Amino acid sequence: MSIVVVGTIGYDTIDTQHGGVAEALGGSASFFALAARFFAPVSIVAAVGSDFKGEHRRLFEERSIDLRGMIVRDGPTFRWHGRYHEDMNIRDTVSLALNVFADFTPDLLADQRRSDYVFLANISPDLQTHVLGQVTSPKVVAADTMNHWIVNERPGLMKLLPRIDILTLNDEEARLLSGEHNLVKAGRAVLKMGPDTVLVKRGEYGVLQFSQDSLFAVPAWPLEDVVDPTGAGDTFAGAFMGYLARHGRVNESILRTAVVYGSVMGSFVVETFSVDRLTSLTWDDVERRYRAFLELTDSHHSRWTSQ
Ligand code: AMP
Repeated sequence: MSIVVVGTIGYDTIDTQHGGVAEALGGSASFFALAARFFAPVSIVAAVGSDFKGEHRRLFEERSIDLRGMIVRDGPTFRWHGRYHEDMNIRDTVSLALNVFADFTPDLLADQRRSDYVFLANISPDLQTHVLGQVTSPKVVAADTMNHWIVNERPGLMKLLPRIDILTLNDEEARLLSGEHNLVKAGRAVLKMGPDTVLVKRGEYGVLQFSQDSLFAVPAWPLEDVVDPTGAGDTFAGAFMGYLARHGRVNESILRTAVVYGSVMGSFVVETFSVDRLTSLTWDDVERRYRAFLELTDSHHSRWTSQ
């Protein structure tokens, strides 16, 4: 079952306390698609500028990511410059230029309109609604958001929330949206705004999944060196949605396994700058870390017994 994602494709400049990178391939749709494609076919809806490089187009195409919905417009591609603190859970936006994405109002292709799985990446709620309105009968709709939209476009976001199944957001955004400081209260309050499932991303502390009658917690894979957290959330969402699409149905157990695969894939992308680790990754790498991930929280597991 195929997935359609609307989001940014752009060039990122990243500064961390231990190094950086300039003009590297980034954007929410890029990370999402490069993770999702391990599980299911994925089709991107985005706009890039005339400076978008051929090597990056090929990078997607060689991985069978459908770019028919990526339109090329006159002008520069989306750019974002982020700076991480020593505590890499905290980052500042140094600059953001929407460029050709600024007045992008996508028109989905006929087959994209029939998609069963839809991911509305972090873009304005009105644009998310515009895209969702074109999909005829989706099985699962997930959306991401951020503090900017929660503060500046709350009415649009509140209209969107009852129309989606799954919302992903980070801990600070969950607090901001709900007005609750306690994360359990915040997650429950966001559920009341419409989505059936709320996924609260907590960086190096893992993910909390809230559903109407259950709560599921997954740790982050403990890494010694986090090089660049950029894209972890979108990569998580890509693997999560990919897993759901591969199964073609949703229940609590499938949702939980999808969260684990999302966390596994998110743990790879932060090992390098940009999308580099996602493009070098093999399915064997994913499965090996998935099994190690299960052992991480299995109190009965021991390598040294024969059981
Ligand atoms: P994440 O770290 O998962 O939040 O995703 C970071 C990616 O989102 C980067 O590659 C950026 O290019 C992109 N990004 C950053 N800010 C925005 C924004 N305001 N709107 C859309 N995309 C953004």
